[in-house]
This record gives sequence, C-alpha cells and structure tokens, in this order.
Amino acid sequence: MRTFDFDLFVIGGGSGGVRAARMAAQRGARVALAECAELGGTCVNVGCIPKKLYSYAAGYAEAFEEAEGYGWHVGETRFDWAQLKANRAREITRLNGVYRSLLEAAGVQLIQGWAQLTDAHGVQVGEKHFTAQHVLVATGGMPFVPDIQGREHGVVSDAMFDLDPFPKRLVVVGGGYIACEFASIFNGLGAQVTQVQRSAHLLNEFDEDLRQFLAKEMTRTGVDIRFNAEISMVTRLESGLCALLSRGQRVEADTILFATGRVPNTAGMGLEAAGVALDERGGVIVDAHYRSSVPSVLAVGDVSTRQQLTPVALAEAMVVVDTLFGKGKRQLDYDYTPTAVFTHPNVGTCGYTEAAARMKFGKVTIFSSEFRALRHTLSESKERTFMKLIVDKASDRVVGLHMVGPDAGEIVQGFAVAMRCGATKADFDSTIGIHPTVAEEFVTMREPMP
Ligand code: FAD
Repeated sequence: MRTFDFDLFVIGGGSGGVRAARMAAQRGARVALAECAELGGTCVNVGCIPKKLYSYAAGYAEAFEEAEGYGWHVGETRFDWAQLKANRAREITRLNGVYRSLLEAAGVQLIQGWAQLTDAHGVQVGEKHFTAQHVLVATGGMPFVPDIQGREHGVVSDAMFDLDPFPKRLVVVGGGYIACEFASIFNGLGAQVTQVQRSAHLLNEFDEDLRQFLAKEMTRTGVDIRFNAEISMVTRLESGLCALLSRGQRVEADTILFATGRVPNTAGMGLEAAGVALDERGGVIVDAHYRSSVPSVLAVGDVSTRQQLTPVALAEAMVVVDTLFGKGKRQLDYDYTPTAVFTHPNVGTCGYTEAAARMKFGKVTIFSSEFRALRHTLSESKERTFMKLIVDKASDRVVGLHMVGPDAGEIVQGFAVAMRCGATKADFDSTIGIHPTVAEEFVTMREPMP
C-alpha cells in the first residue's frame, strides 16, 4: 500500500481550511495546512470580523444623535480613523494567534507559503514537496473588478480597512451585500457616499419588498444611491478621482470601491494540470460530498460553493471531516440558511423570497409589517423597521422570513432554527412574544396582506 506524508493536506487557512484541519487532527489524522498569508482567511482578516467591527464603529454616530432624546448630552464628538484602524489591527492579530494556537494544539503541521497541486496526491510549497492521501482545496475567493477604463485607480474591499487618509467622499460601485455594507459603514463614519448600481435594485437575490425598503432606509441615512447607473471610466484629477457614469454624470471621490463580485481563487495552483475540473467561473466542481473530479482532491468554501458565507464553509468542512475521518458520509442541507447584511439598519433573512416561494409552492400567504421601533419614539430617529413572513398555504409552513431593522441578524438566527424544524404559522401564532421587543412582531402578525 502506498504511504503518504499526511492523511490530509489542506490548502488555505481560512474558515473552511482551519476547521477541517483542526477537526481532522483532533480525530487522529496526520494533517498539514499551507497558508500563504495570515491564518483566518477572508473572514478574519478582510471580511466578516473587521467589517462588523467597523459597522459597530459607524453605529456610534447614530447612537450619539439619538442619545439626546433620552436625556444624554454627549457634547462634541470626534472620530479618530487612525485609532479605529489600530485597534482593529490589534484584534485581528490576536485572532490570527488564536487560530495558530488552536491548530498547533490539535497537532496540525503549519506550512507557510503558496501551495500547488502536483498530481492527485502531491502538493508543492516553495522548495518542499509533500504527499497526502487526501488534499482539501479551501483557497476561498477574491474580488472581481470588471474591465473599466481607469479601474486601477479604484480599490477592492480588502483595501477598505486600512485606507489612508479617511475618504471624505466615497463612491461604491455595486449593489451586493458587500457594497451595501461598506456604503452604510462609511456613511456612518462620516464620508459622503455615492453608491452606483447598474440595476434598479440592491441585493439581487433578496426579497423585493425588503430590498426596496432597505434602499429607502439607506437613502434616509444619507447614502446617495444611483440606480440604473453604470460606471464607464475612472480618471485621476488633482482633487481626487472622478467616476464617469454611463449617462454622462460625474461623481468626484477620494476613493472608489469596486464591490463588483468575487471569483473563486484557483489560478496558479496546478489544479487543472492535476485533472481537477473547474466551472466557468473558475470554481472547483464538487459532488455532494465535496469531491472534485479527482477523487483524492476535495474542495469546500468560497472556492466551490454558491453560498459564500463563513458558516457554510465551516459546515462543509465538517461534512468532509466526517466523511473522511469519522461518522461517515452525510450531506449538507442548504435550505433555510439564514443570512444578515450589516447595513444600517441591518438586514436579516431566512428561506424563500416571495417570488421564489410563489414559484416553488404556488399559493402563499404574505404577512408584512412596517413600524417605528419603541426605541425611536424618544430618540426621534426616523428609522423604520420592516418585517415579512411568507407562508405556504397548503402546509401552513413559514417558508420565508425577512427583516430590515435593529439587530436583524441576531433576531433571524433564532427564527432560522424554528424554520428548519418546519415551524408553521400556527406555531408562530401560538408562541408568546417577548414584550416590548421588535422581534415579537414576528409572532403577532395576524392579518395577511390582501
Ligand atoms: P477564505 O476564508 O477566503 O480562506 C482562503 C485562504 O486560502 C486565505 O487565507 C488565502 O490566503 C489562502 N490561500 C489561497 N490560495 C492559497 C494557496 N495556493 N496556498 C496557500 N494558501 C492559499 N461571510 C459571512 O458569513 N458573514 C459576513 O458578515 C461576511 N462578510 C464578508 C465581508 C467581506 C468584505 C467579504 C469579502 C466576505 C465576507 N463574508 C462573510 C464571506 C466569508 O468571508 C467567506 O465566505 C469565507 O471566508 C470563506 O471561507 P473559505 O475558507 O472558503 O476561504
């Protein structure tokens, strides 16, 4: 029988790779992990974590304004961008260290460098060559910028956390969740933000009512959203940058962020030469157990999935570990994956949009509510909250739950458990609310929309 250096070689130390390596090693497998940058990957270094920290920072601007209604006179406030950046960097470095300790404690051999597949069982990192019975590709994704003249003057999301100086004027190109989040964050931190979106709405895959409501709220907070507008050229001026829009409009800015999608990170890794089939986006094609066209090579996370979320990468990694080193084959159920968008206000969503539910279930009943949260009676903020339930008429099952409002992500997480368990509208109705909360509205909506 052929012997290998490792049972599992993981390429990429992000969400999926770290989880798979650590859990496999804890189950007794001999594991190596190669990472070419910092441990923790996109989520820890340039994604979820720093983004959420900056979102908290942006939230203070609203909180200071609202405090007066509650009798607090905050006085003069001043935002220190350099301090926020330094504090964020310190926290991210701490997390990098936590990841390293967890992997080392589990017995994973860490290898620093760019890894390339040499064949079905071989991996090259710099001068060193390793063999493994299984190779897991967990190399994530990277920002994609369309071929626009002058795009080199713009930046991608990775650069937003360390901009120097703070951009007083920011153009955000795109309407996906990353675009909306950065637009909201920098608006909250005091930048004048223009968001340029080529279609007529934000957040393509989200519920139509939700995305209309969000656009209204983001506009109310001060983001200048230009719908049906495409950016055709970026030029450098003495006073900064200029984005030329397709209808002849010009927007001047200090920074232009291209949040125009992400592509799988597979270039220069020897995947195709080793026989690993890629799709038209360059993503690794995998079966339901994350095996590629080369049976010893597997892939999880953004490099292969359609749901590019950290918890999805983690869940996929656990399926791989169970399949290779533990409890046996099982399949991940992607239905009712909840997700949040950390705009101001937040978005939380789980299950089907109204349009998708009508296609899938035929007859559906819609419950919807829009109101001013109790908190804003005294704060005098004009912020409004939106909530919507979509119920399959035949089974009474709640198949869609959507929200724009404070802590939407925190609220929807709990409801997602109920929805995965098949909760019906009758179950929602018989659940006693927690009063006074925003979330109680989800269990007190009685009148369907006409
Ligand atoms: P990654 O975490 O990207 O890790 C891949 C790793 O592989 C990287 O560390 C990279 O350096 C390394 N690598 C690549 N090629 C090689 C090579 N050849 N050799 C060695 N190492 C290599 N998701 C959420 O769930 N919630 C959020 O709020 C959220 N916010 C986000 C905000 C932003 C701005 C972005 C960009 C993403 C966000 N995401 C969020 C998505 C989330 O970060 C990803 O889904 C998740 O990180 C994917 O994990 P992964 O393991 O597939 O890849």
